Amino acid sequence: MATYRDSVCRLCRRENTKLFLKGERCLSAKCAIDRRAYPPGMHGLSRRRKVSEFGIQLREKQKTRRYYGLMERQFHNTFKKAAKKVGITGEIFLQMLETRLDNVVHHLGFADSRRQARQLVSHGHLAVNGKRVNLPSFQVKKGDVVEVHQASRKKKIFEKVMEKRAKLSPVSWLAWAEGELKGEVLDMPRPEDVKISVEEHLIVEFYSK
Ligand code: SF4
Repeated sequence: MATYRDSVCRLCRRENTKLFLKGERCLSAKCAIDRRAYPPGMHGLSRRRKVSEFGIQLREKQKTRRYYGLMERQFHNTFKKAAKKVGITGEIFLQMLETRLDNVVHHLGFADSRRQARQLVSHGHLAVNGKRVNLPSFQVKKGDVVEVHQASRKKKIFEKVMEKRAKLSPVSWLAWAEGELKGEVLDMPRPEDVKISVEEHLIVEFYSK
């Protein structure tokens, strides 16, 4: 599968919004979008184009896809699954993205970024309801307990989780178990729980053409 290997800060600058792809650095004065809030590239500063309706929908889709760190195919497949469910497609889609195990692992502070969270899950360091799960796209549900697997708790990468958690703002639909490498899904997330602003109807319109 193709992987994006360039600087992730360029993605934020391209979307002109903070996508929080670099952990603690995103909260510091070193954040690239705070220092250079214009698109990357030699024409970044001078580019002033009228954006079409399609362009607006495309940017909203790209911004959201990049925030969750998914490739186009994974993102579109998730959308197709959401579209088959009963309810408001845009809201279901965002809920499915938020409840991906890699996203939850990131929100619980076990990983600095979704990219790192995905790697930790793939390497089998996480468990859901006591069972090891190595699928980053695994969908958690209300009542699920997500934790670092017993066998991985002494790993160096998890040493500073508590310290890092203190700097994070908790997500209302997840509970952190105090002093433990564990968290619980209290509720299903709503669109307003997404950390960045997403106009999901634009993504629905983009894929409905
Ligand atoms: Fe880079 Fe994070 Fe700032 Fe985005 S939010 S530009 S990833 S430091």
